[in-house]
Amino acid sequence: MARISTQGPIDAVVIGAGIAGCTLAYELTRHRCRVTVLEQSFVAAESSGRNTGTLLSGPQPEVVELLDGSVEVYRELADGPVPFEFAKIGHLLISEDEQSFAAAAAVAERYRSAGVGMEKVLGAELTREYPRLKFKVSGGYFVERAWTLEPLGATHSFAHAAREAGAVIRTGLRVAQVFSRNGKVQGVLTDQGIIPADMVFLANGLWISDLLRRTVGDGPLPGLPLTAGRGWLIQLGKLDFRIPWIIEELTWPDQEELGRRMSLDGLRDVAELRDDRIGVEAICMNPMLGGDLRLGATVQPAFRDLLRNTEVASRIAARTLRMIAGLDATTVKNVYPGNRPMLSDGLPVAGRTAIEGLFLHGGMGSIGMHAAPATARWLVDAVLSGDGNPRQKWLVPQRFPGWD
Ligand SMILES: Cc1cc2nc3c(=O)[nH]c(=O)nc-3n(C[C@H](O)[C@H](O)[C@H](O)COP(=O)(O)OP(=O)(O)OC[C@H]3O[C@@H](n4cnc5c(N)ncnc54)[C@H](O)[C@@H]3O)c2cc1C
Repeated sequence: MARISTQGPIDAVVIGAGIAGCTLAYELTRHRCRVTVLEQSFVAAESSGRNTGTLLSGPQPEVVELLDGSVEVYRELADGPVPFEFAKIGHLLISEDEQSFAAAAAVAERYRSAGVGMEKVLGAELTREYPRLKFKVSGGYFVERAWTLEPLGATHSFAHAAREAGAVIRTGLRVAQVFSRNGKVQGVLTDQGIIPADMVFLANGLWISDLLRRTVGDGPLPGLPLTAGRGWLIQLGKLDFRIPWIIEELTWPDQEELGRRMSLDGLRDVAELRDDRIGVEAICMNPMLGGDLRLGATVQPAFRDLLRNTEVASRIAARTLRMIAGLDATTVKNVYPGNRPMLSDGLPVAGRTAIEGLFLHGGMGSIGMHAAPATARWLVDAVLSGDGNPRQKWLVPQRFPGWD
């Protein structure tokens, strides 16, 4: 059953100009919808402009499907007027000690089962073959496929392509409410008045929960198990040699485990300071095509506006120097926190709501750059030629309680 009943061109409002919103705007204009993107701040103001910029294979087949789907979309824009340093790159997974290296064999098998080639390497070989880095690790695996990009440029490249195709992108304009009548979306209320629409897409990252609550008329809609997966990044300067791979620790968990560790669901979590505990601490370093490097990462379950653990970046730096002593003299340009809009199963959400014409695109978690181009394409195809839910059942909102 098609969800949209309208004569003539479809007016679509997209809320949020991060990677989730800008990829949607691009897809909708490809299908000749009249698109308005509403952004409270500026394009890529939040995590979409400030992340590590890696697109990595993982041991989950869903993650590999997302990767392959998104790479196809990025290729359409990579040579366009907004450069974003998109390139295939090596991916090296490392283990610091013998115990974690032994445990990594099982993880490597999961990657292989998901269709990703893995080649084992010993720590001594890494130390010998890459003397500038001074590796001190037990060993690792070279992973068959990964891509790097510069995330601010990547998000802008979608915004630019959408604008060229007729989309209007209004920044500094916040959506306060979504409204519907008789089960059908009518439009949105902004700080400068009401904007009517046939379709509205909630793509506003961690703030989706606010607008689910403030869908008025037929709402509020059910909530989503969304928390901020807080992380810290260190922006490094240029090296005088090139690192050929994204380097990541093998202890980084898969999306399912990550989502589980991020769950915060009650007052007891606040009482017991559970948001103060780090869920994952593992190196992930992206040598960007511009010659500089972005280094993370930790993930901690967090409330959106409560900032804790400012010492975490020092732990990431110390951990990196323990394993890659050759980076000792690298300059640091900035250190900053960011939020990952993380759902409880670690996967994004894309699909329809119970209100005709109202759709979700979010919960991008730790893989928004990796996932959003693919999920936006699948969602828009489903909205315009299906029932509004992509065929990938693991993406649909109805997998969460209260959404049937
Ligand atoms: C430290 C760190 C490292 C990361 N590394 C990677 C990585 O290597 N690879 C990867 O794929 N992902 C990575 N991520 C995750 C990625 O950054 C996110 O998944 C992604 O940016 C989320 O995109 P989004 O568009 O859903 O949300 P956002 O980028 O947060 O965009 C949402 C937008 O909505 C706007 N908004 C909110 N409310 C309203 C409103 N009411 N009205 C109008 N506008 C509104 C906000 O201002 C914001 O601009 C990382 C994240 C962090 C924190």
